[in-house]
Amino acid sequence: MNSAKLRKLTLQLLILIFIVSVGYILISQKTESSINERYSQIARNMTLHLKTLIKEKEGTILQIALAMAEDQKIKNALLSKDKSKIQLQDFSLKLRENTDLKNIWFQIIDKEGKSFYRSFSDKSGDSLLEARSDVAKMVKAPQIIPSISVGKFTLSFKVMVPIYENNTFIGIFETLAQFNSIALKMDKNQERTIILVDESYKNQLVYADKERFIGNYYVANSNPDEKLLAEIKRKSPEAIINCKGEFNICPSINSIVSIYRLNNEYDKPMAHFIMAYNLDNINLDDIFQSRNNLFLIFAGVLFVSSIIFLYFQSKKRLVEELNYELEEILESKTKELTYLAHHDTLTGLANRLLFLEIVQDAIESAKRENSKFSILFLDLDRFKDVNDTHGHHAGDVLLKSVANRLKECVRTQDTVSRLAGDEFTILLRNSNEENLVSIVEKIIQAVQEPIEIAHNTFSITFSIGISCFPVDGVDADVLISNADTAMYKAKELGRNTYQFYNKTMGKYTLNRVIFEKNLKIALQEDEFEAFYQPQIDITTGRVIGAEALIRWQSPELGFVSPAEFIPIAEQSNLIIKIDLWMMKKTMHQLMVFQKEGIDIGKLSLNISAKQLEGKEMIAELKNILQETGFDASRLELEITEREMMKDPEATIVVLNKIKELGISISIDDFGTGHSSLAYIKRLPIDKLKIDKSFVDDLPHDKDDIAIVRSVISIAKHLHMDIIAEGVETPEQRDFLQNEGCSKIQGYLYSKPLPVDDYKQFLIEHN
Ligand code: C2E
Ligand code: CA
Ligand code: CA
Repeated sequence: MNSAKLRKLTLQLLILIFIVSVGYILISQKTESSINERYSQIARNMTLHLKTLIKEKEGTILQIALAMAEDQKIKNALLSKDKSKIQLQDFSLKLRENTDLKNIWFQIIDKEGKSFYRSFSDKSGDSLLEARSDVAKMVKAPQIIPSISVGKFTLSFKVMVPIYENNTFIGIFETLAQFNSIALKMDKNQERTIILVDESYKNQLVYADKERFIGNYYVANSNPDEKLLAEIKRKSPEAIINCKGEFNICPSINSIVSIYRLNNEYDKPMAHFIMAYNLDNINLDDIFQSRNNLFLIFAGVLFVSSIIFLYFQSKKRLVEELNYELEEILESKTKELTYLAHHDTLTGLANRLLFLEIVQDAIESAKRENSKFSILFLDLDRFKDVNDTHGHHAGDVLLKSVANRLKECVRTQDTVSRLAGDEFTILLRNSNEENLVSIVEKIIQAVQEPIEIAHNTFSITFSIGISCFPVDGVDADVLISNADTAMYKAKELGRNTYQFYNKTMGKYTLNRVIFEKNLKIALQEDEFEAFYQPQIDITTGRVIGAEALIRWQSPELGFVSPAEFIPIAEQSNLIIKIDLWMMKKTMHQLMVFQKEGIDIGKLSLNISAKQLEGKEMIAELKNILQETGFDASRLELEITEREMMKDPEATIVVLNKIKELGISISIDDFGTGHSSLAYIKRLPIDKLKIDKSFVDDLPHDKDDIAIVRSVISIAKHLHMDIIAEGVETPEQRDFLQNEGCSKIQGYLYSKPLPVDDYKQFLIEHN
């Protein structure tokens, strides 16, 4: 595993850990807050319960006091000042036996504020006005006064009710009760409660049980919960009652503890109710259940996301791998094609294309170094006889051994190539008259040696033409062509000999100036004509369209082949006008057929690279399409591979614009240019056209077979359509079909036809 992959994996792992941690923390937090919420609910419930109990008790003792204040016996006793008839201890006992009121006492006070009767003491007649402000207040303005207060004994409930006889205030009935029963009721409800009287009352509690003090705090309930009491002692009452918050968790008693503070009339603390609820009694199952559910959902989501993530990861990897494989295949195919395009498989020698490049190269360096070189054009004498009498195989073996002999005769800096059939060329660098003649003679000598093939002995001779740089030409085509001319001269002179080129041998070539002048006239005078060569899909036998080819019948020059005048037109801007003329003409003509209901298929137009350079091209195309009403999807432009590769970046831009119009693009003469894989992939091409030169020698020539296979395989891998041109024989057609190319154009089906003949062809075939 490389470090980038490792880094990526580590990063992914860290992200996963992060997500899991965050998920865990969030769910835990949620659980914790649910538990807290549950605890504060319990704390609130305890306080509520306590308050209700206090209210209830206040109500009860008020009712008793109200009832007793109406008691005639008590009124009579007060009026007669004879308390002997009052026996309220028994009433206390009755209440203790029959109700929750376990500790309840009574006091009767006369209208002067003196204690008249006490159920808890025999003492009476003492004035309470000084010691008790509430009594003084009552004497002045009789009214019902309920209160909770701390007396000399403990914290207690008190209620005073005025006693009236015939609307005259005659005394006060007072009921007193303790808090113990409230604590008991709370305890019964599992809400263990300890009531602490605040330390500020310590000095006032003169009759209180000293044993019950914890520090300065007095425990107001008589049988407090031992464990809770111990806890209060251990932590100190202050520590507990000063706790902040609704509740606290006390692990030592396994409880939640909540405090309720009761204030006096001055809003100062009077009593503290410490309530504890055992944690074991709290049911948190539902919270944990929902936590577990959340964990489960989280894990599920995480799992599914991981699966989706992994799925897309592996899909991405698969696509990358496939792409890589495709890249490799295409690269090897283009390499193969480049090699094949430059070499002759039979002999392994350079072919015409490579030889041209090498000569070009030699020209550059000869110019730089001011040196000379020569080109030999060699043609085997009577090779055709060998082929005819001994067969192709013997011919091939012969060519191979001739090639080997030629290679042995030259130096390493020289190049031997096979141009075609039995034509060879040799480039000799740094040659002068003397070494040139000696090499040529050496070659004639070497080749003459008899060759044994399948028990036959062959004696072979060459006719050789020689041209020299720079005297016989300064460009590659001219030098080769002049050497060729010299070779013919040698043949004429009786074979097995050589000739140096001289200018008198030069063939008549049409003057370019005359050509250009006539081409301009041709455009003006409408001397051109559009021909159509049908293209057939052999799987269906239908015509899929036609390639439009220009024809020129010049009154002055006669019929001139486009192969001759197009290259000249390309050197001036005439080609643009010519191509536009063809576009308009063909679209107009075919639209007429279409309107008559004839299926015209596709129209292929040849476009010169000059067109691509100009900016008006796209606008012109749009215009013509609009003008003629021709459907852009029926139009295809053919551009040669060589021209596309002159400036591939610029070509990509123009072709993309053409494609935007809905027009398709085909590479013409595919296999002869120097396409690089990188560009073929980037160019918006729909179709590859196998060049006629590769079809010519099918199905015999090994080179051509290999090239055609490569081209078909490139087209397949790049999902492009493929067509072969120049198909003349059924053998060629069958071979192409077997290899997977079923679209055919060539004389086998039809020569390029004048427009009316093409119409007839369409009607007959579709
Ligand atoms: P090309 O584009 O490679 O066109 C195919 C050539 O092969 C045509 O030659 C066609 O007649 C010929 N051909 C087709 N099938 C066969 C066959 O089975 N056997 C043989 N021997 N030949 C076949 P043509 O019409 O002479 O055109 C020559 C070249 O001139 C074309 O080569 C093309 O590059 C150029 N050309 C023709 N018309 C136009 C045009 O309108 N505009 C431009 N820019 N170039 C044109
Ligand atoms: Ca073409
Ligand atoms: Ca072609």
